[in-house]
Amino acid sequence: DDSRIVTPEIRGDEIDSTMRPQVLDDFVGQAQARANLKIFIGAAKARQEALDHVLFVGPPGLGKTTLAQIMARELGVNFRATSGPVIAKAGDLAALLTNLEERDVLFIDEIHRLNPAVEEVLYPAMEDYQLDLIIGEGPAARSVKIDLAKFTLVAATTRLGLLTTPLRDRFGIPVRLQFYTVEELEHIVKRGAQILGIGMAPDGAREIAKRSRGTPRIAGRLLRRVRDFAVFDGVGTVDRILADKALSQLEVDGGGLDGLDRRYLSQIALNFGGGPVGIETIAAALSEPRDAIEEIVEPYLIQNGFLQRTPRGRVLTKNAFEHLGLAAPSESAT
Ligand code: ADP
Repeated sequence: DDSRIVTPEIRGDEIDSTMRPQVLDDFVGQAQARANLKIFIGAAKARQEALDHVLFVGPPGLGKTTLAQIMARELGVNFRATSGPVIAKAGDLAALLTNLEERDVLFIDEIHRLNPAVEEVLYPAMEDYQLDLIIGEGPAARSVKIDLAKFTLVAATTRLGLLTTPLRDRFGIPVRLQFYTVEELEHIVKRGAQILGIGMAPDGAREIAKRSRGTPRIAGRLLRRVRDFAVFDGVGTVDRILADKALSQLEVDGGGLDGLDRRYLSQIALNFGGGPVGIETIAAALSEPRDAIEEIVEPYLIQNGFLQRTPRGRVLTKNAFEHLGLAAPSESAT
């Protein structure tokens, strides 16, 4: 939902690459992923071989694209980017692959949305650096093999469960990205403020970080909106009070929840006694698509201890009732 200021996805009007770290050492957080990548990149460079294929898994806005770009830069190779839904036909993918040079990084975002016919072409390309194409139709059809440069596929997905097993198995390096801690986001906000030329008090950075839902893209967006308020008020330095005023006006509450999150929680609290309630029922009650709720609303609420997914449906926690200022029903979970 493009209208949400806390959406982890990039919005239509948005340029969020200004604050994008360019090298691995400037990339804050994801310590384990970073450490592993550093070793794999170093080894591939030393052997002068293409890096094994990498699969980034994690919610939107956590830095998958950023890491893919950094990898190409650290490897000293070209970076080509596309996404699952954009590659309509097998021929489109073939065109991309035949244009790669040795050790190049091809980044495919949203790989779970690749069409099956395209996926078939990807298997031999990943495994043997070969294209198997069928030329012509009917009895005249014949198959041709084309050798490809030894490239590295870096793919990203928000939904590992939607990947077919054969595709998943062809990635030598799976990397799961985690939500960021408040301290890490604080660091990202301070760094962003420097790049944007905004004065930032430590308590201002902390306030923005606390409301950023564990997601650097949201931290960057909130920072830019807070800057607008600072400019409008003629204030040189953003402190906690200014950040709080700006973000409250934008309806992002102290826990980083926006109107949709609060509607989601109140629905379950008030109309379904705190749950358990099925996802379809909630989606219908909110008039929001089920996918959007599962991918964009729930992960943060679960991560933050407001919600539990159980086999019988969604259940609110005591924390959620407290956050809404409501009394929890006595039989409610946790
Ligand atoms: P994804 O591909 O996972 O959706 P991106 O790589 O596009 O996420 O990251 C979104 C934005 O967040 C980037 O433009 C970048 O400015 C910022 N960002 C992501 N990760 C970091 C990080 N570790 N440190 C600083 N900024 C980051």
